[in-house]
Amino acid sequence: MKIYSEKQKTIADRIDNENTLSNWKDWKWQIKNTIRDIPTFERLSGITFPEDKREKLENTLEKFPMAVTPYYLSLIEIEDYENDPIFMQSCPSEHEITITRDEMSDPLSEDLDSPVPGITHRYPDRVLFMISNICAMYCRHCTRKRRVGDCEYIPDKAEISKGIDYINNNSRVRDVLLSGGDPLMLDNDYLEYILSELSDIRHVEIIRLGSRMPVVLPYRIDYDLVEMIKQYHPVWLNTHFNHPREITGSSTEALRKLADGGIPLGNQSVLLAGVNDCPRIMKSLFQKLLINRVRPYYLYQCDLSEGLSHFRTPIGKGIEIIESLRGHTSGLAVPTYVVDAPGGGGKIPLMPNYLMSWSSNKVVLRNYEGVICTYKEPDTYEPLFCDRKCDDCNLQLKLDNASEIKSIGIERLLCDYDDTISLYPEDNERMGRRDDADEE
Ligand SMILES: *Cc1c(COP(=O)(O)O)cnc(C)c1O
Repeated sequence: MKIYSEKQKTIADRIDNENTLSNWKDWKWQIKNTIRDIPTFERLSGITFPEDKREKLENTLEKFPMAVTPYYLSLIEIEDYENDPIFMQSCPSEHEITITRDEMSDPLSEDLDSPVPGITHRYPDRVLFMISNICAMYCRHCTRKRRVGDCEYIPDKAEISKGIDYINNNSRVRDVLLSGGDPLMLDNDYLEYILSELSDIRHVEIIRLGSRMPVVLPYRIDYDLVEMIKQYHPVWLNTHFNHPREITGSSTEALRKLADGGIPLGNQSVLLAGVNDCPRIMKSLFQKLLINRVRPYYLYQCDLSEGLSHFRTPIGKGIEIIESLRGHTSGLAVPTYVVDAPGGGGKIPLMPNYLMSWSSNKVVLRNYEGVICTYKEPDTYEPLFCDRKCDDCNLQLKLDNASEIKSIGIERLLCDYDDTISLYPEDNERMGRRDDADEE
């Protein structure tokens, strides 16, 4: 497996001609030499922008800063750079300063659902814990663009411990997602401090890391890091590959180390116009991920964050991609396509319709080939009336394994032990009239 390409040698030379190539794989050297301005980007990549384009890019940089690792830069193929998926994800675009009416600085309301700095508590049993405000690379399509470069810092122990206390005090939190920024921007000791504090909390069952390091700075994944993480299992890691060209010898190596460390790997891609809005590219990406023991987990519809309109596709493109995968390739290669609900409703899965019709005892379904079949439902099915008294139930769930009693949302409408028969939006006009009548 080739670790240094000719291009990497050239870039290393241009950064520092004293540079022995041994530095190239030193992640701190990569961070130190992160490219943050247009002239350096041009000098190192070999791309020369037309004068007016350069001006526009400088303009974008004032609002949304850039950061590209020399490694990621080395993956750009400069002959047709404007269409290059690596270039498009890393180099600012003049389109970013166009902010459309529908865009928001915090479309997922992560800040509103934040009980203490750094924590977003959206779902009943898990939290997002942002432990770093920096990344090795600033993805141009970042959903947290509002924060990028804003205050480049890693929260100190006082701030981190507020998040840890919050988790400690909320016994329903069984899953903690460490994200940011990129949590692997922390050095091993600091990350270890956080992992060990979290794994000491009785109700925390799993920890997840969300990191793009395997893609943008694979040298970060070294033996010491993996050995450290291993001590706090179960730790999962989700990374963010968007295009098969990002899977290189070095990233393969990083993924191998993580998988060998027993860290289950997932991938969260973002559907991006001009980068990966193509069923063949996606199939190739997901199959290559499986070869690297990475399970495609989510495919995200691009969020309504400011400055991303040029990256957005219609939802139909995502459905088309899932249609082209399910049945056509390994089920393991098919991620869940999700829209992260604007306003903070969380992830909403979408897929093609496979359920065609339904009678009282038959379901008509179609498969990926268009074959239509019927599933005959059982003539007799004795529904269990569930009053959630698990100790009297013949399904034999041990009570200490039972989850909490309270049902929320649609699940609540379906269950037997709750009499709720409808849900109403808070500002429903008709309900408003009822309330008014009550008051009179
Ligand atoms: C995505 C996300 C999670 C995790 O969701 P899963 O579907 O469990 O992967 C948790 N909290 C927040 C705020 C999220 O955005």
